[in-house]
Amino acid sequence: IYILGIESSCDDTAASVLHNGKILSNEIATQKIHEEYGGVVPELASRAHQQNIVPVIHQAIEKAGIKKEDLSAIAFTRGPGLMGSLLVGTSFAKSMAMALEIPLIEVNHMQAHLLAHFIEEDGFEKPTFPFLGMTISGGHTQIVKVNDYFKMEVIGETLDDAVGEAFDKCGKMLELPYPAGPIIDKYAKEGNPKAFQFPKPNVKDLDFSFSGLKTSMLYFLQRETEKNPNFIEENLIDICASFQYTIVNIILSKLKKAVKQTHINRVAIGGGVSANSGIREALQKTEKNLGWKTYIPKFEYTTDNAAMIAIVGHYKYLNQDFTDTSVSAKSRYRF
Ligand code: ATP
Ligand code: FE
Repeated sequence: IYILGIESSCDDTAASVLHNGKILSNEIATQKIHEEYGGVVPELASRAHQQNIVPVIHQAIEKAGIKKEDLSAIAFTRGPGLMGSLLVGTSFAKSMAMALEIPLIEVNHMQAHLLAHFIEEDGFEKPTFPFLGMTISGGHTQIVKVNDYFKMEVIGETLDDAVGEAFDKCGKMLELPYPAGPIIDKYAKEGNPKAFQFPKPNVKDLDFSFSGLKTSMLYFLQRETEKNPNFIEENLIDICASFQYTIVNIILSKLKKAVKQTHINRVAIGGGVSANSGIREALQKTEKNLGWKTYIPKFEYTTDNAAMIAIVGHYKYLNQDFTDTSVSAKSRYRF
């Protein structure tokens, strides 16, 4: 089975070819333009997708060493994401499937972030069902009970900002370029996580909230820079380390609660923020200390990529779960 996956939900145009779940190619064109604006500008994103989509798909097929006629099906991100961006991938996938007369398969992007764990990869174990999925990304923060490939249930989520958004917005306050998540992570490694204290939000059950943390960061920086205009510059690594420490604690404490409630101690993380070294280390520790089984994705399958779309396509192909070519993109798409 050869599946072409196409991802265009946000600011990355990506295409990947899988053969029986194994990666043959995984191409991505990242849009640099948004750095200047400190965030993704939807109109610019969809225009860049239009420019990138043909070359990226072409490269993915060429690098896979196959011809497009060899493809068994085309999987694409239907949502959630930016409407204009999704439309580019959706329309392209539809026309290509029609032209090649092969099945079309729609994919939910958040489901894909979790099912990325099923990409065939040496040295990586696939989770066994049921497991808890924690999607931490630029637009989502969810704890998901994954009963089977396509039987997923959200049991906790953020009531306001996503965790990646908290990283990016606080990074902006620290005058870091967009996206600030990976940069904060890098600085955090060198800093003292106990240098400053940020309040942990008090949210019920398995839900999250990150807007309070953002506000407390804002006031904290205002207060300190009033006293010392060079405060950020002089304390950057400690601020980053303390901020990241707070986030890791919030996530781990909710995960512990979820494990207790569900009696499931297999935990898989996914989404861009699962690249974070603090979260990875903390999870590895729980494996040792609490006897959990944790699944941490390979680095390149954390942030947006098309291999995760193609692997969902692979499993839907096995189920013969195909999509009609009258399908349209879905900006808000819950599974
Ligand atoms: P969604 O998947 O919810 O639609 P998205 O696709 O925009 O959102 P992803 O590509 O999954 O999000 O993740 C991007 C986010 O991950 C950004 O907010 C970025 O700052 C964050 N991120 C990436 N690497 C790291 C890291 N090492 N530490 C913290 N955050 C990170
Ligand atoms: Fe994503």
